[in-house]
Amino acid sequence: MAKITKRSEDYSRWYTDVIMQAELADYAPVKGCMVIRPNGYAIWEKIQSVLDRMFKETGHRNAYFPLFIPESFMRREAEHVEGFAPECAVVTHGGGKKLEEPLYVRPTSETIIWAMYKDWIQSYRDLPLLINQWCNVVRWEMRTRLFLRTTEFLWQEGHTAHATEAEAEEEARKILQIYRTFAEEYMAMPVIPGQKTEKEKFAGALRTYTIEAMMQDRRALQAGTSHNLGQNFARAFDVKYQDENGELQYVWATSWGVSTRLIGALIMTHSDDQGLVLPPRLATLEVVVVPIWKGDDEMSQMKEAAHRLADSWKGKLTYHVDDREGYRPGWKFNEWESKGVPVRVELGPRDLQRNEATLVRRDTGERTTVPQDRILEAIKDLLEDIQSSLFRRALEFREKYTFVVDGYDEFKEKIDEPGGFFLVHWCGDRACEDRLQEETKATIRCIPFDRPAERGRCLLCGRPSDGRVVAAKAY
Ligand SMILES: [Zn+2]
Repeated sequence: MAKITKRSEDYSRWYTDVIMQAELADYAPVKGCMVIRPNGYAIWEKIQSVLDRMFKETGHRNAYFPLFIPESFMRREAEHVEGFAPECAVVTHGGGKKLEEPLYVRPTSETIIWAMYKDWIQSYRDLPLLINQWCNVVRWEMRTRLFLRTTEFLWQEGHTAHATEAEAEEEARKILQIYRTFAEEYMAMPVIPGQKTEKEKFAGALRTYTIEAMMQDRRALQAGTSHNLGQNFARAFDVKYQDENGELQYVWATSWGVSTRLIGALIMTHSDDQGLVLPPRLATLEVVVVPIWKGDDEMSQMKEAAHRLADSWKGKLTYHVDDREGYRPGWKFNEWESKGVPVRVELGPRDLQRNEATLVRRDTGERTTVPQDRILEAIKDLLEDIQSSLFRRALEFREKYTFVVDGYDEFKEKIDEPGGFFLVHWCGDRACEDRLQEETKATIRCIPFDRPAERGRCLLCGRPSDGRVVAAKAY
């Protein structure tokens, strides 16, 4: 088995090694694209199934819109086209002929969806319209990294239409709360919810909300965004509804999305030098059982005992009995560790004699011996404990590397080493934000929702500020 580079040696190689070793993804023959392999796709399916349920519980329904968007649609919303056109793939030929109008491969679907909403929305009775789509999108990236930034990626994009600004605002915030719950309770990844600055908001939005997570190299990763689009797309596509008084009004909109990038976030939040670490709630395989034997006589006995033990978990746990011959137990342990299986059960002749088994947790390597008649409960308890301790550990890590800083010199000293989240005062001026990025490569990640009111002076220009923002280097 190939070795995984240590995080301390080369973090970025470590990240790729973890992915390769766990067989989550591979580089595609097309530059900038990736193949998501079955182990990686299974994680995506888990993410999808949880989020899909959460969306449906809040009244959203799934639909599917075309991959191709007429160029003229893209051009209708000025900020939107300016933001996205440079990174779009454009189809100019089809069926061997030059097309009359070029077709953009969707970088996001606001335009084609709002072109349809014009037909579907006439009256206040048609609102709200709450639609989500699971699909792929293409953004022509120059510098790509598996899961984090690829030319084509998978995501969900919600697109909702509302009668009032207040409803659209409520929707955008409700979705961000769903993203936060998912990140914290399923991914075991603490996030800071907040608002993006004007500079960082979505092209065409009134306001963008985000959840920001800290990775193990202390960089920020934007894990999900939700946009209040105001009436921008309704105006661009002339989508009006008749209100209860018979007056025509423009519709209010939101859009929101998370992508396969979450898998990258998952890897960089929890994994270690042995490979992938998965929070149990997103692990497709919760337990692996490895029977241990010496001679052939022991082999059949131990194999049988392992299957007998695991068979009683059917429908209660996802498990696999690794009874392959010709591999040493230690080799198997390493392999399942690198694939991130949360709990390993070791069953040797002595365990069998005593009616016991040994449980090993992936996150800490800690071993415990349990009686076989209580093993199911013990595994269930262990899975819950791993889930909560992964979250706790990530939160402690984030807190350790979150700094309240008032001086620009101190900021510049610390931004590379140790790096982290910096809570700094900012006057709100774009010029200071640009300067921060130029001089330090850090960006303002968000204006946290729950920041306390606090008078201070802008880190860059010294003008007054009434609260702190989160600044960090980011993926
Ligand atoms: Zn300033």
